[in-house]
Amino acid sequence: MEYKKNDIVTVTIGDISSEGEGIGKINGYPFFVKDAVIGDTARVRVTKVKKNYSFARLEEVVTPSPYRVEPVCAYHKQCGGCQIQAMSYERQLAFKQDKIKNNLVRIGGFAPEFVDCVMEPIVGMDNPFRYRNKAQYPVGCDKEGTPVAGFYAGRTHSIIANTDCYLGVEENKEILEIILKHMKKYHVPAYDENTGKGLVRHVLIRKGFTSGEIMVCLVINWRGSRGKASGFKEQCAVTVEEKGCSRGNKCVQDAYFPMQEKLIAALTQISRMTSISVSINTENTNVIMGKEVHTIWGDDRITDTIHVRDTLHDFALTEKGITFSISPLSFYQVNPVQTEKLYSLALDYADLTGKETVWDLYCGIGTISLFLAGKAKQVYGVEIVPQAIEDAKQNAANNNITNAQFFVGKAEEVLPEKYEKEGIFADVIVVDPPRKGCDGACLETMLKMQPERIVYVSCDSATLARDLKILCEGGYELKKVRGVDQFGMTVHVECVIMMQYCGKEKKK
Ligand code: SAH
Repeated sequence: MEYKKNDIVTVTIGDISSEGEGIGKINGYPFFVKDAVIGDTARVRVTKVKKNYSFARLEEVVTPSPYRVEPVCAYHKQCGGCQIQAMSYERQLAFKQDKIKNNLVRIGGFAPEFVDCVMEPIVGMDNPFRYRNKAQYPVGCDKEGTPVAGFYAGRTHSIIANTDCYLGVEENKEILEIILKHMKKYHVPAYDENTGKGLVRHVLIRKGFTSGEIMVCLVINWRGSRGKASGFKEQCAVTVEEKGCSRGNKCVQDAYFPMQEKLIAALTQISRMTSISVSINTENTNVIMGKEVHTIWGDDRITDTIHVRDTLHDFALTEKGITFSISPLSFYQVNPVQTEKLYSLALDYADLTGKETVWDLYCGIGTISLFLAGKAKQVYGVEIVPQAIEDAKQNAANNNITNAQFFVGKAEEVLPEKYEKEGIFADVIVVDPPRKGCDGACLETMLKMQPERIVYVSCDSATLARDLKILCEGGYELKKVRGVDQFGMTVHVECVIMMQYCGKEKKK
């Protein structure tokens, strides 16, 4: 049968796509239904017809799935951030376990039975809400022109107001409301993507879960009075002098934000406020943070402590944990509770005795590197963001770790260069790349260096599987795989694997 847009069909959802849509088939023809839960029987409306499948919208759940739960967030359908909030957490974990396995089979070319042998059960969260230590809220205007903070609706760039995302900490709401109130009172315009005018683009909030310290970074479309770009008046739709900035130009002269002192005074009422900064982003871009950050109150960084355990023998690897300083531009794992489990697993998989030379590629602020250092002879970290490497060096010094050295640059450039020019060596290589995975040149050099073990920490099992295939062809064998759920309610899953060199030609 031919389907067309707006047809209503009844389907039973028998599968889940990697993006979290329910998949229901009629005579083998699949419908991808957003917000449908596996096990539902539902009436759905066809929204887009393709040759081999269609997209459809959930109209009515006829028979609810046993895995269906009441979502806690009223916006879960519009927001799109929590693709599977209507699915029980247990079922979410099973979905993620399958997702990793399917990618290893389909993309990695591993046999399903083999994956079953090497894969351990996914590590779930005790509480899958309020787990994120970082929030990035876009700021815009509603139809009345009032500043709002919230989330982008679906795949659009219009902002739906919601200051309390259930994945984030409760302080987010309080902080955002202070900022919005200040914007309304002093007529501070939100940034408008279409015109490139307005001031406030995003608010970044981070909280150190162990320290309690809070960082707020306002991403603004202006260089401040010290910068060279045109002044605040030209950037903004309204003039500040007229609208309540009683000291005329004075407050603009030495500030990035109208009535900056008043905003700071309000924000510092929040307990454990530690760092307030602005990030300058005057580009017409989807990238949230600008490259420049200026602290306007308090410290440049917040701290957080991570404790890692030897899970095989069940003891803490560091008595007091390792304390990290984190600056606004540095990457830091968003789920600190699960991060401890993730790093513990990565360390187990690295299986160090104290004699090894280890490379930690894509090292961020040196989190994994510094734990590795406690069990290795020497660790080298590589990371592309200069501020993160500054943090990494400071973190090593603050924790009295002397056997970790850090390099700024692309892993795919630093590693080949060091290998070819300096003949560097590795017993173990740990990689933790962003979603796009490792660059070909990086994998190629790893194969030339031929470390005993490779530990790959991945936030995208599809690119992981692609890279593992290349490493297997180069003489490595997949030994262990385990998912760690860092992102409850979403379709994303973190994964750690360990590979061992099993090739015939041993270089060393
Ligand atoms: N291992 C760290 C960081 C992982 S996130 C942790 O657990 O905290 C991935 C990191 O890779 C980010 O810090 C990002 O800035 C960095 N990165 C992205 N592309 C890179 C590249 N080509 N070379 C080196 N680092 C890169």
